[in-house]
Amino acid sequence: MRGDDLRERRIGTLIFELGAEESRCVEPPRADVPQVDLQAALGEQVRTVPPALPHVTEVDIARHYERLASANFGVDSGFYPLGSCTMKYNPKVDEWACRLPGFAGVHPYQPESSAQGALELMWELQGMLGEIAGLPAVTLQPAAGAHGELTGLLVIRAYHSARGDSRKKVLVPDSAHGTNPATVAMCGYEVVQVPSDERGGVDLEALKGLLDTDVAALMLTNPNTLGLFDENIARITEAVHAIGALVYCDGANLNAILGKSRPGDMGFDALHINLHKTFATPHGGGGPGAGPVAVSAQLAEYLPGPVATRDGEGTYSLSIPESSIGRMRSFAGNFGVLVRAYAYMRAMGRLGLAEVSEQAVLSANYLKELLRQAWPLAYDRVCMHEFVLSGAQMRKEHGVRTLDVAKRLLDYGYHPPTVYFPLIVDEAMMIEPTETEGKATLDRFAAVLLRIAEEAAENPDLLHGAPYTTPVRRLDEAAAVKRPDLAWRPGPVVGG
Ligand SMILES: *Cc1c(COP(=O)(O)O)cnc(C)c1O
Repeated sequence: MRGDDLRERRIGTLIFELGAEESRCVEPPRADVPQVDLQAALGEQVRTVPPALPHVTEVDIARHYERLASANFGVDSGFYPLGSCTMKYNPKVDEWACRLPGFAGVHPYQPESSAQGALELMWELQGMLGEIAGLPAVTLQPAAGAHGELTGLLVIRAYHSARGDSRKKVLVPDSAHGTNPATVAMCGYEVVQVPSDERGGVDLEALKGLLDTDVAALMLTNPNTLGLFDENIARITEAVHAIGALVYCDGANLNAILGKSRPGDMGFDALHINLHKTFATPHGGGGPGAGPVAVSAQLAEYLPGPVATRDGEGTYSLSIPESSIGRMRSFAGNFGVLVRAYAYMRAMGRLGLAEVSEQAVLSANYLKELLRQAWPLAYDRVCMHEFVLSGAQMRKEHGVRTLDVAKRLLDYGYHPPTVYFPLIVDEAMMIEPTETEGKATLDRFAAVLLRIAEEAAENPDLLHGAPYTTPVRRLDEAAAVKRPDLAWRPGPVVGG
């Protein structure tokens, strides 16, 4: 009726639906070798039905992939305030750096003598990350933050085992990212939840009540997932150390404290750093990341290998630490991500990195002040690089949920913030503007959210029905995750 079947640029069009039987894009060269009768030579193994491949011209292919590429939403196409994820702009110069032929073409089995530049970069990066963390020993192996958590906790377990200490529990705050308790369980420890206090930090008294000699570690995010710096951090790490346990820091929020304060100085024993969040690697689409782990001197011997080392003559090599837990991944880690992080840090310099956290914190507090008139703050404090609003009042007054607000934002062309996390905030909406957005973008985004708050009051059903302008409308989100229909089944074969 509406001509949808004839519309030229439908997002969901498959390449198999394009072209026509007579379309070709490859002209094979004429055979200049003797012809062989394959049928006679191979018999049944030769297919009798041609493969169901698309019949398209080269321009059909170019347009198809261009259409798919432009259907994607990314930091380069719009504001992406996804809390906890640090979806910031990644300078293109870092893409250039990691594609330099000497880095892109290096082979992991190349003799070390012929890869000195790559090893030097790894060695320097270990040093820079250790300096930022305030912890002396670093592994670049882990492939992402969650993998870094697993690495760090296995190192802590190895430390306790070496002392003949078989502790059973790891404490995790109730505001933690889901990967934290998952990591604890994967390491064979029991997860014990620590409640938050009314200021959004660890409830210190409750923590003290949970500490005994069966506790191997406390896993803490600081600043935490509410975007708040724990005011008791020194007291917390001291109390945990007093019973012989260690403190692990989930460093996903490092862009809030970069060059300002160091987890090692706060008393943390191990920390992972999400290079793809804090430094420069486009992420969020399932691409490679890197989650290096920095540890204190007493944990260094347990780190996974290989780590880059330098001898007295300035020659670089890879080696496995003395009591290593083994490898966490093949070769030397996701090398391209390491190059991007290195290039980013060298370009920013010490002062530039400190400015990253100043800007991240300033942007978040600015946006928080613009929005709090419509959504109450979950914890009314100066925030770090992100903040959490509650939509509980809006649900009560207008029957509009945070999910409806998120869907309506799509109609205005924005990626929604993180919703319903952290779990301890009712109707949570978690916003991280990052250090790379200008004031004009923040002002426009705030204006849109405030407009949506008006819409919620005037016409709640408008929000219940959103989004209206996207290729697909409201999905059954559970079914979309659990029963995705991703397979194309060939219809009648065309051509031959
Ligand atoms: C992103 C994130 C993780 C997991 O890191 P990945 O690199 O996605 O594996 C863990 N904790 C927090 C707080 C995070 O934001």
